[in-house]
Amino acid sequence: MNKKEYMKAYYKKHKEKPKEKERIKKYRENHKEEMKKWRAEHKEKLKAYYKKWKKEHKGYMKEWGETNKGLINEYEKKRRINQKKELKARNLARYHIPIPKGYLCEVCDKELATQRHHKDYDKPLAVDLVCQKCHTKLDKIKNKLNTWEKK
Ligand SMILES: [Zn+2]
Repeated sequence: MNKKEYMKAYYKKHKEKPKEKERIKKYRENHKEEMKKWRAEHKEKLKAYYKKWKKEHKGYMKEWGETNKGLINEYEKKRRINQKKELKARNLARYHIPIPKGYLCEVCDKELATQRHHKDYDKPLAVDLVCQKCHTKLDKIKNKLNTWEKK
């Protein structure tokens, strides 16, 4: 079975009516916190479920990996280059840009700045001095933007 056929079969099996989909989306939005709690409480169960899913889809995953070997290699290569860039930029910034004592985070202006955030690793010295909380948020946004760009 090729990928297209597989997806078609999978989609047919798990098809949801548009109305149902909309309802589920709304439910998810309204119960965000509860679901978060539920997920935390059922961590082990979910882990087992994912494991099972992976096992059931093993053949397909393998096949996909083989047909897309070039793509995966390309992605890995890019990831490695990016990691190197990231490390270099981080080291450069740490060396050249000290964070003054008592300096407040440039995003929230409340917590003490303890970290350097790079908007672009090609500009290693262009950093924002931020607290850890804001840094996590900023990185999340950055990662999202990067995935969008790739699409
Ligand atoms: Zn902050």
